[in-house]
Amino acid sequence: MESVSEASSIRTNNRIYELRAAGLDIVTLSLGEAFFDLPTPSFEGMPGTQIHHYSHSRGVPLLRQKLAGYYETCSGAPVDPETEIMVTAGSKAAIFMTLTAMLDPGDEVIIPEPLWVSYPDQVRLARGVPVMTPWYEQVGDLESYITPRTRAIIVNNPHNPSGRRLGAVEMLSLHEMAEKHGLFLISDEAYHEFVPEGEVFVSALEHDPEKRHTIVCNSMSKNYGISGWRIGYLIADQHFTRQVIKLQQHMVTCAPTILSYYLAENFEAILDHTRPQIRRVVATRNRMAGLLADRGVQCLPGDATFYLFASLGESRLDSTEFAERLLTRYGVAVVPGAGYGASCDRFVRVAVGAETEDRLVRGMHALADLVEATR
Ligand code: PMP
Repeated sequence: MESVSEASSIRTNNRIYELRAAGLDIVTLSLGEAFFDLPTPSFEGMPGTQIHHYSHSRGVPLLRQKLAGYYETCSGAPVDPETEIMVTAGSKAAIFMTLTAMLDPGDEVIIPEPLWVSYPDQVRLARGVPVMTPWYEQVGDLESYITPRTRAIIVNNPHNPSGRRLGAVEMLSLHEMAEKHGLFLISDEAYHEFVPEGEVFVSALEHDPEKRHTIVCNSMSKNYGISGWRIGYLIADQHFTRQVIKLQQHMVTCAPTILSYYLAENFEAILDHTRPQIRRVVATRNRMAGLLADRGVQCLPGDATFYLFASLGESRLDSTEFAERLLTRYGVAVVPGAGYGASCDRFVRVAVGAETEDRLVRGMHALADLVEATR
């Protein structure tokens, strides 16, 4: 465990919770979720004999059917709810179990930076070796990092923290690499509803409907605005799912039953409720990117999610010093880029899902002011 670090975004946010509890007004641009207006759940009328107990370790059947149908609609790939889905305690658990199931000690996993903070440590915990690639590498360049020990490539699409969506050409290139070198492609699609109005999301399953090498990990945390419920899932071929289910049985038994029933019953209704709010937060993201650009702060290219990965430009501070000064001098919380990979210390992550427009604008100006003040 000594070689495993704390999740930097969670460490930042724990500190913010403490500062806020102490009465400080912090413009919170560090939280990895969008706050939605949601109806308070009622469990009235749910099957009383079942909701309080363990459920099938693959997940409550109706929820699996809903998720399978949902993925079929968005990817065109058939998903068998009986054999190809497992519901678990968030996509974080899905990714961890995926890695644990597939890696032998010393197997390498390619992780493009900026990376989601848990990937490298999850690979280490699974006794694998994370192989990070710097942020400026293109998808096609990843092939040069493949060795005889490479077992998988992880992509996050749409991407936290840049907001980038992989296009069809990039997706095809990843599938070709996976086929050619016998690798798994782990596609973390936790933000897949967070695309701009009128745009489409391309799931990795679209090009590998038989799931020969693709494992999709996804979540209800972000799209449904219920990160604290801890409901995520993975989609893989039946052989892989059968293996990973053993980890579920030994680690968590099943995802929370009462919440799974609720989500199955209200699957479409909640999405109908969150989708307009998702569109609004993505539009806000893009407005804030524009505001930063007007102030001379560049972000990595992207138009999706509610994140921006903002460059520190000519600031002499590294990302940890910058985030610390932004917090203590301006009362604005962001996550240092260093947590997203060694190549990312000239960036900070800005999330726009948890604040009002006027406070966001205040936060963007503070960030730009600090870049200017520390040239
Ligand atoms: N993947 C990415 C890229 C994330 O940003 C997060 C949460 N911040 C997760 C996975 C995990 O989310 P959850 O476990 O709530 O599904």
